[in-house]
Amino acid sequence: MATKIIYFTVNGRPERAELPLDCPAQDLKDLFRSAAEARPHDILKLYNPKGNLINISPRLEPNNPSSCYKLEVVAADCTSVELAVALGLDLSTMEKRLQGLEKKILAQAVETPAVVYEMKKQVDLFREKLESVEHLSWLGLFKELSDGPHKTSPFYHKRPLRKTCDEVKHVRDKFLQMSSLEVSEAVRQYLKTPSFDNWQWEDAEIMVLLQVMYTDLDFIATFNIEPEVLQHFLFEVYRRYNNIPFHNFKHCFCVTQMMYGLIWMTDLKSKIDSIDLLTMLTSAVCHDLDHTGYNNAYQINARTELALRYNDISPLENHHSAVAFEILEKRESNIFRNLTIEQYKRIREGIIKCILATDMTKHNEILSKFKTILPVFDFKNKDHKDVLMMILIKVSDISNEARPMEVAEPWLDCLLQEFYNQGDMEKLEGLPVTPFMDRDKQHIVDPVRKALDYYTEMEKALERDKRNRAQEKATKSKESPPGSQAASDAQTASVQECSKTAAQ
Ligand SMILES: [Zn+2]
Repeated sequence: MATKIIYFTVNGRPERAELPLDCPAQDLKDLFRSAAEARPHDILKLYNPKGNLINISPRLEPNNPSSCYKLEVVAADCTSVELAVALGLDLSTMEKRLQGLEKKILAQAVETPAVVYEMKKQVDLFREKLESVEHLSWLGLFKELSDGPHKTSPFYHKRPLRKTCDEVKHVRDKFLQMSSLEVSEAVRQYLKTPSFDNWQWEDAEIMVLLQVMYTDLDFIATFNIEPEVLQHFLFEVYRRYNNIPFHNFKHCFCVTQMMYGLIWMTDLKSKIDSIDLLTMLTSAVCHDLDHTGYNNAYQINARTELALRYNDISPLENHHSAVAFEILEKRESNIFRNLTIEQYKRIREGIIKCILATDMTKHNEILSKFKTILPVFDFKNKDHKDVLMMILIKVSDISNEARPMEVAEPWLDCLLQEFYNQGDMEKLEGLPVTPFMDRDKQHIVDPVRKALDYYTEMEKALERDKRNRAQEKATKSKESPPGSQAASDAQTASVQECSKTAAQ
C-alpha cells in the first residue's frame, strides 16, 4: 500500500504519521485529534511552516522533519480539565476507556447507520430532482393557461433553499458543545485582520468566532447580554441564511469579520459609542438574512411576494432587516432585551439604516453624501456618523477582493454560480435576462479571469525580479562597483522579462 509521511509538532512535541495515500478525510482528522489529545468538540487547526492555516485534508503534502506542520488546539474546553485536575481525576485515562467502549458499540452497529445514512441521501436527492421537475412541468402548464406575460409568476411562492432540520440540528448541537471553548489569543488576534481565511472554518466554528467578536468588543458586559441569549440569536441567524452559493452564512461571517477588523484597525472604539459599534456588528451579521439568491431586479420583474410587499423598494434589504427584527422579537434570542427603550429605539433605527444601505442602487447617493461631509467630518455629528456606518457596512459587504487571493478567488466562483442560477431562471420564466448573469454570454467572466491571471503573473514576475536583483547585487559587489553599466543593464533586462511574462 502506497503511503506518505507527515511530520508535525503538537505542543512543541515532534510527531510523525504514516498514512495511506487514499486515507479518508475523517480518519485523518481523527488521527490528528488523538495526537493532540483533543476532546471531541475542541477545534484543531494545522499551520504550515510559513504560519498559514491549512486544511486537514487527504491532499496534505508530505514533508520532512525540517518543514514540520504545527498542530494546535485553538479552542478547548479548559474548564472540564481544570475541574478534573482539581478533583484529582485522570481524565485522559477515563476518556480512553470511554473511547474504547464507544468503538465496541460502533463496531457492532456499523452496517445499519451507513445504510440509513445512504438512504437519507437518496431521499434528499430524489426530493431535489422532484422539485426541479415540478418547476418544468409548471412551465408547460403556464404556457398553456397563462393569459399573457403580465400574470404574477408562480415562483411568487417559490421556497428558497432552506436548511434541512437535520442539518440545523447537527450544527446547533455542535455549536452548543463548542460554545464554552476558550479560543486562543492567536486566533483572537487573527480574527481582527483582513487576511482571515473563512474557508478553514465550519459553520458551528464560525458561530464560536462570532461569539468571540461580541465578547472581545465588550458587548456582553456593557449591554448585559446573557451568553445563552447570544447563542440562541447566533443560531437563529445561522438558521435563517439559506443554502445558496453566495449570499449564505459564510458570506454573513466574512462581512461581519471585515467590519470587526475595520473597527479594530481604525481604533473606532475610542471614537464612537459602544451602542453604535453594536449596531454596526449586528447589522453586518443580519444584512443578508433569508436571501433567496435572486437579486432585486429579479424580485421586481418576477413580481415576487417580496417585491409586492415592499412596493419594489429595496425588497431584499427590507426583508433582511425585517427577518432580523423577527429574530430579535423573540425574548430568547433578543440580545437587546436588557437595553433601555431609548437604546433599543436607537439601535433599531441604526440597523435598519445600515442594512438598507447595502442596496447597491443607493451606492451613488451614499457615496456622494460621504464625499461632501468628509472634509468637515465630525464624530459628534449624528448625520456624519450615520453616513460613516453606512459606508463601513458597504465596504465590508464587497471586501472579498481586499482579501488574499486564495480567500477571494473561491468567492468569485460562488458569485458567478448564483448569477448564472438567476440567469437560468430568468430564461425559464421569460423575464429579461440580466446580461452579466447569462451563462451563455460571459460578459464579465473572461475579462475578470484575464485580469486575475495578469495580476497573478505580475506578482510572480515581480518576485522573480526581486530575487534576481538580490542575486545580481551580491555578484556585482564582488565583480564591479555599484551603479556600473553592467548592473543597470542586468536590471533593465530583468524588468523587461517581468513585463513580458505578465502580458502573456
Ligand atoms: Zn452581503
